[in-house]
Amino acid sequence: MSKIAVIGGGIAGSAAAVELARAGNQVTIIEKENKLGGNLKDYGCKAVDVCTKCNLCLVDDLFSETTESAGIEILYQTRVNDFKRNPGSYSLGIEREGRFQRIDGLDYIVLATGFTRWSDLETGTPEVSQDKRIIWASELEGLMKKRKDHLETEDPLALGYKPESVVFIQCNGSRSIQEKARYCSRVCCGYSYRMARVLKYFFPEIKITIFFMDLQEGGYLQDISFTNLEEAGINYLNCKPVRVEGKDDGLRIIYEDQRKGAVEELLTQLLVLSEGIHPNQDNEHWSMLFNLQLDDHGFLSSIEDELKTGIFLAGTIKGPKDIAATISDGRNVAYKIINQQKLQPAVR
Ligand SMILES: Cc1cc2nc3c(=O)[nH]c(=O)nc-3n(C[C@H](O)[C@H](O)[C@H](O)COP(=O)(O)OP(=O)(O)OC[C@H]3O[C@@H](n4cnc5c(N)ncnc54)[C@H](O)[C@@H]3O)c2cc1C
Ligand code: SF4
Ligand code: SF4
Repeated sequence: MSKIAVIGGGIAGSAAAVELARAGNQVTIIEKENKLGGNLKDYGCKAVDVCTKCNLCLVDDLFSETTESAGIEILYQTRVNDFKRNPGSYSLGIEREGRFQRIDGLDYIVLATGFTRWSDLETGTPEVSQDKRIIWASELEGLMKKRKDHLETEDPLALGYKPESVVFIQCNGSRSIQEKARYCSRVCCGYSYRMARVLKYFFPEIKITIFFMDLQEGGYLQDISFTNLEEAGINYLNCKPVRVEGKDDGLRIIYEDQRKGAVEELLTQLLVLSEGIHPNQDNEHWSMLFNLQLDDHGFLSSIEDELKTGIFLAGTIKGPKDIAATISDGRNVAYKIINQQKLQPAVR
């Protein structure tokens, strides 16, 4: 049996912790918030007539097992501010409710502190005014979550009105040098399409337009093609709007239609900004504390073999991933540790 600290109680950290505890290890999860779940605490089911495979269902059992497991201790509202290598083991300095403590005798550390939403960054909101008709995708996820309480009403998404049109703008905080994120965030094509389908289901007359720069390929989106987007009544325009203006009768979206070679405009009642996956703000702190490498975007990777150092990275701390890929990654980290335990005890 080993003593293991998992920093971060999102799905990556919980998936790793559950497997490690099942194998008989003593696991401590260190979580800065007062709840497990990470970014997807506020997301909602995107099923309509059928399940749209958003994978949120995968997590309920995971968090129940994490909180109920006898082998897992969870320290909420706790942060790590010190790390020491002692002969044969590690020690972490933690701050909890204003008090400093140490966790000694650790054999392994799993770092799973996830990502920051583009909307949570100050730079993520430059042109978004206080206009209530403009919302982030995470806010629409929140409305999807609450809809179970409003299903029997005329306002199933609790928008406060019956929307006649909605525009999604994709690739916010992704695929952009200006936004310091040249990569694809891998999740926003899928969640926007799924949320658009929910809106179409509840409001069949609604006009939906999705402005996109690119479509994420494979995996998460494998069942989506332009043919079934059109069949679902969703209009796709391949460009990023140049300006959004708030008017009394709606939001005026100004864009360059490359097919026509002309500047066009479109009026909408609701604008949803998809938001990309950005590096956790603590990544620089982790890179210095644990001697890890920051890539050009700010995500982390290991410099040395994790099996030698005993310090593992799991989930979106390494780069964008959807729920299924994050769970697999957390479990893989746990299996690497468990396999090493079978072969030899960790000697450092
Ligand atoms: C708007 C939006 C919608 C999405 N919808 C979907 C979807 O429908 N389907 C899908 O498959 N994927 C979706 N995703 C992707 C999904 O959110 C990620 O795959 C998942 O949250 C990654 O989990 P994680 O554990 O790596 O990170 P996180 O969810 O970021 O969890 C990290 C955890 O670490 C904690 N933490 C952070 N810093 C510290 C620290 N210093 N000390 C201690 N604890 C810390 C956090 O509080 C959190 O609990 C969506 C993403 C976005 C942005
Ligand atoms: S939460 Fe996602 S995976 Fe589960 S039923 Fe709803 S749409 Fe399907
Ligand atoms: S997943 Fe889609 S919307 Fe998100 S960055 Fe990639 S291409 Fe753009």
